[in-house]
Amino acid sequence: MPRNQQIHLNNRPDGEAVASNFKLVASETPPLQDGQVLVRHHFLSLDPYMRGRMNDAKSYAMPQALGETMGGGTVGEVVESKNERFAVGDKVVGMGGWQEYSVVDANQVGALRKVDTTHVPLSAYLGAVGMPGVTAWYGLVKIIAPQAGDTMVISAATGAVGSAFAALSKARGCHTVGIAGGPKKCKYAVEELGYDACIDYKTHTDAASLAKALKDACPKGIDGYFENVGGMVLDAVLTRMNAFGRIAVCGMIAGYDGAPLPLTYPALILVNRLKVQGFIVSEHMEIWPEALKELGTQVATGKLKPRESIALGIKAAPEAFLGLLKGRNFGKQLVKLV
Ligand code: NDP
Repeated sequence: MPRNQQIHLNNRPDGEAVASNFKLVASETPPLQDGQVLVRHHFLSLDPYMRGRMNDAKSYAMPQALGETMGGGTVGEVVESKNERFAVGDKVVGMGGWQEYSVVDANQVGALRKVDTTHVPLSAYLGAVGMPGVTAWYGLVKIIAPQAGDTMVISAATGAVGSAFAALSKARGCHTVGIAGGPKKCKYAVEELGYDACIDYKTHTDAASLAKALKDACPKGIDGYFENVGGMVLDAVLTRMNAFGRIAVCGMIAGYDGAPLPLTYPALILVNRLKVQGFIVSEHMEIWPEALKELGTQVATGKLKPRESIALGIKAAPEAFLGLLKGRNFGKQLVKLV
């Protein structure tokens, strides 16, 4: 059986996550039992939610156990099979975790899914045609429910979720404005992702200044906001929301390392009769097929060509993950393992 390198959670962060929270471990993969398959991972997905699981705190997801392989989405190839539904060479997506190989009980519902790479690259099943894409779809379609001509705004606009959001929002005829960190990301947002405008929040030191930029980019106000960040960005957007606007609360990455995220004017929710709804995409499995169909078509037809940030080798995973939490990724953050 092949030697398998894994990244374990070694200890929990005290405030900001650091490289020493992780540990590289190597072992042999165990022999397969009936029903199991051995998957060689080609790509590992790094996602902001993993930061929350590093804490031992009450949340929607169980804390990551200490001394065990970090959990995470993977795509790869079946290299050995004792399951009649999976053959050697099948391309699969699963939750293999931060390691080079995984032994999967493929009879478990949802544990492993075969994917077709004829028109969609394998890595896209961790991004636009995977969990982040479906996240954008759910927040936009089911919570914000836009009408053509509405104005949509999203923060972390060029990331895995944001890039899919732009394509989905433009396909529904919406004026679509991104908020992202830095001139390069904003240029890419407009020129490649199709945003009508993108605001570099890093050039604004307070919410009032960012709100002024939003007023210029959204002259008819904001009907839908897809929240990924929290803090100053949310404060600024709230002041520009139209009456009966909808806010899909997807993430608050500015607070994942423990920083408080106070809301300056919560009364604006009342004044503007806003709908504010949080969601976790894995709790809405019923919409995944419809969402994946639209996202798969967007990617297969070249309408959505999101960027990827690729770290090389399992040893690079911790630093790449810490970089993601600081905005050093440019597009979907992956680790290439083959
Ligand atoms: P991204 O690829 O967008 O990467 C994260 C980005 O967040 C960074 O590149 C950076 O972009 C931005 N960021 C980081 N720190 C800050 C900060 N302090 N202030 C402002 N922006 C910051 O990640 P994803 O697309 O995978 O995820 C986006 C959001 O969606 C996250 O909040 C995540 O937790 C959430 N999410 C929620 C899900 C759900 O079911 N609710 C499912 C999947 C994701 P920039 O350089 O532009 O600042």
